[in-house]
Amino acid sequence: MKIGVPKEIKNNEYRVGMTPAAVHELCGHGHDVFVETQAGAAIGFTDEDYQSAGAQILADAKAVFGAATLIVKVKEPQPEERALLNREHTLFTYLHLAPDQAQTDDLVASGAICIAYETVTDRSGRLPLLAPMSEVAGRMSIQAGAHCLEKSVGGRGVLLGGVPGVSPARVTVVGGGVVGQNAVAMAIGMGAQVTVLDRNMDVLRNLDHLYGNRITTLFSTVHTLDQAMVESDLVVGSVLIPGASAPKLITRDMIRRMPEGSVLVDVAIDQGGCAETSKPTTHDDPTYIVDGVVHYCVANMPGAVARTSTLALNNVTLPFVAALANKGPIRAMKEDPHLMAGLNIADGKVTYREVAEATGHSY
Ligand code: NAD
Repeated sequence: MKIGVPKEIKNNEYRVGMTPAAVHELCGHGHDVFVETQAGAAIGFTDEDYQSAGAQILADAKAVFGAATLIVKVKEPQPEERALLNREHTLFTYLHLAPDQAQTDDLVASGAICIAYETVTDRSGRLPLLAPMSEVAGRMSIQAGAHCLEKSVGGRGVLLGGVPGVSPARVTVVGGGVVGQNAVAMAIGMGAQVTVLDRNMDVLRNLDHLYGNRITTLFSTVHTLDQAMVESDLVVGSVLIPGASAPKLITRDMIRRMPEGSVLVDVAIDQGGCAETSKPTTHDDPTYIVDGVVHYCVANMPGAVARTSTLALNNVTLPFVAALANKGPIRAMKEDPHLMAGLNIADGKVTYREVAEATGHSY
């Protein structure tokens, strides 16, 4: 199979679809890999690294799409990339098609097979190609929150772990899924006093089993959330109702009653955010203040640690890329229903119900 790795062109995107190690593995299976020049340069993967791994370096995206039939990327294809796709191609990347009519229309028109990372499943029904980015964002949320608590950013001047003789900060994590569990682990590691809320008792039981009385677990209701919020220095919003916009659990009134200089890191902002006061921000200008509370609402947190995120993403995508290349996309999907679950578009048709419903395409 001829595999292509174009350089990502979305604004501020430094991740890359395949690392040199992944390229080495695919070349070892007898495949040809074509990498656009400088595709990984921003995160320390040079053209020479890719060449040593067995790749051929090509001058631009047009050459990569021309040489390869399996295209491995990170972000959804931008309009100029979509124009390079045709029915010979299989595209494997994050797509997030439901809210993106223009992209869906273009991919349908291209005739390509389009497999979305975010809908590939695993045996327990989870989304294994989304999980690493949630792990990254969860860990970063505490790092970002700790920084926002500093006076220079508008925070209340509190150190997460305290010091001997001084209380640690109080951290509340709303939603104990993948993001939440990673936030909890970091917050405990930094010595904070941690409370986590969820509506799934199994989630709370697992956390209790893991950390015992080092954390407080609370079943999430308006009342428990309200109490935890007003006593918190740092709140991490990490709820998800799959396929839906994030519920606005955190009201303006709760924000108003939080301590002056406390911090909300709303990781769920990519689904609209779980606070009434949240609006998306960027890495260039990540925070704003409402009623004295510092809000950090960056919608693509993993982009800030593009090297770690690329490595983490490749760990989970590589087995699927290898299957697609070794067996060909049709057989690979027929033999693996979890990879098949990633199929969003094929042969000029939308093949994923939610995308069809959201975009008006037939299914
Ligand atoms: P997840 O499904 O693993 O966890 C979500 C948790 O929220 C579940 O445990 C669920 O029971 C809980 N929940 C649902 N309703 C609740 C309620 N009313 N009160 C308390 N808990 C409730 O999801 P995840 O992978 O942890 O992702 C969480 C959010 O973070 C998602 O919106 C995801 O898209 C987002 N995310 C954002 C970034 C970013 O860069 N901003 C990066 C990765 C993930």
